[in-house]
Amino acid sequence: MTSRNSSSSRLSDLSREELETLTKASGESSYRAGQVWQWLSQKGVFDLDSMKNIPAKLRTYLNDQCPASALAITHNSIAVDGTEKVLFTLEDGKLIESVLIPAEKRTTICLSSQVGCAVGCYFCASGIDGGKRNLTSGEMFEVFMTMRRLSIDADRPVTNLVVMGMGEPMFNFENLMTTLDRINAKDGPNFGARRITVSTVGIAAGVAKFTASKRPYNLAFSLHAPNDRLRRKIVPLESAMTVEEIRQAALLHLRETGREVTFEYVMLKGVNDGPREARELRRLMKHTQAAVNLIPYNPVPQLDFDRPDDGAIDRFVDILLEAGVKVSVRRRKGADINAACGQLALRKSH
Ligand code: SAH
Ligand code: SF4
Repeated sequence: MTSRNSSSSRLSDLSREELETLTKASGESSYRAGQVWQWLSQKGVFDLDSMKNIPAKLRTYLNDQCPASALAITHNSIAVDGTEKVLFTLEDGKLIESVLIPAEKRTTICLSSQVGCAVGCYFCASGIDGGKRNLTSGEMFEVFMTMRRLSIDADRPVTNLVVMGMGEPMFNFENLMTTLDRINAKDGPNFGARRITVSTVGIAAGVAKFTASKRPYNLAFSLHAPNDRLRRKIVPLESAMTVEEIRQAALLHLRETGREVTFEYVMLKGVNDGPREARELRRLMKHTQAAVNLIPYNPVPQLDFDRPDDGAIDRFVDILLEAGVKVSVRRRKGADINAACGQLALRKSH
């Protein structure tokens, strides 16, 4: 998989310092750089021609050095429950998606971190075609700002951000952290760190860096099984951490940052949804102070997995609750527009 240099291609990939350097090189003052930064980072305007208070000479100069956005909305669908799924075409023609999920008191943006995914969990649409490339920090930031604008237009301003779209965030660690820091920045959208969650299948090097960086974003592990015998039937363990490694990493994260992690558990009918697995998971959860987020499977047509029936889900929840484990069940959202991870991009690219 190729990763692109995030600091050279597009205006949205520049840091504020890089923008200042360029602006000064063009003969303008850094005050002008601050104005351009405001358009990009606060207003989410990535098209130089729309930056009306910027002198034409500087706009032309910047455009020559690092052209404005190449991101285009290709497809936009809204489900009956209000879930809005947006497919973006990137500069190189590749497709990624983002979803806006309204709930009672919150509106969540689901962000992708890569095109495709190299991990290839057996149930997941994002991994079917393998990993294509990392998204640049500018691409992720533009997607966030576009989705944020759509949420404001729909009168449901975004309250939460989850990095749970296509791709494995820990394989694109640096670019993602640059994006999240910018989303969180006071001179940008100033979006609360506690409302941001990064979900990982468990990539040891990335998780270690994330914990060591003490960033204030939430961490969620896609665990999916209480033991490795089962986990390896769901997640290829060549690149991903084992159950015990994840448990240790969760404890370390709690010790180092004071923050509890969440364990995500996709429920696959007849695979990991039985009372035995629930009891084993309950034992595993001891001392971690973590919460479990159960995700009933959204079937992917090409793949041979099903969603458990409601009875099995309820039983699983009860077994965890009996032991005082904090548990939530993700409600089904946007099922009529294929709003499960990776599904729409996959449909369009085939
Ligand atoms: N690669 C990261 C983040 C993206 S996947 C990770 O695996 O955590 C985000 C979450 O969506 C994961 O917990 C994954 O298990 C879940 N998911 C993927 N495809 C799904 C599907 N078809 N139905 C339900 N959950 C799915
Ligand atoms: Fe990649 Fe996450 Fe899908 Fe696994 S679940 S293939 S890690 S995107």
